[in-house]
Amino acid sequence: MIIEKNKAVTVHYTLKNKAGEVVDSSEGQEPLAYIQGIGNIVVGLEKQLEGKKVGDKLDAEVSPEEGYGETNDELIRTLPKEQFGDLGDVKVGLSFYIESPQGHVPATILEVTDKDISFDMNHPLAGNTLFFSVEVIGVRDATEEELEHGHVHGPGGHAH
Ligand code: ZN
Repeated sequence: MIIEKNKAVTVHYTLKNKAGEVVDSSEGQEPLAYIQGIGNIVVGLEKQLEGKKVGDKLDAEVSPEEGYGETNDELIRTLPKEQFGDLGDVKVGLSFYIESPQGHVPATILEVTDKDISFDMNHPLAGNTLFFSVEVIGVRDATEEELEHGHVHGPGGHAH
């Protein structure tokens, strides 16, 4: 069985940035379980996994456009401190969630002045080329229920 749309796929993966630093990895954990072709994982990796089978290993380079997007300057904002309410000890580099029309969006604080706070709502890997090393562990048909929910159930997926 090969990886194609609506297959439930499990993979072990390591993600590195351009500097060769490991950013994310399934090593020492359950392999990642996802459904092919519905946007569970970044599109560039999905494309390169299409047609692969159990035991296949690949190195996949994914451009920002097919990864977490280019850095969008409109997602870098500055707001008066009082709009944040009581944030406690606000530090540069701190991550928090912002309520937005798109739901809870992660943001990272870039700068704190006496009056204002600047923060970045871009994905931390926006603008980055992604370097994945992937090993395909399992491929099966996704169940009706999994397709309805849009995610895999069981080990490496959702536990409900
Ligand atoms: Zn579910």
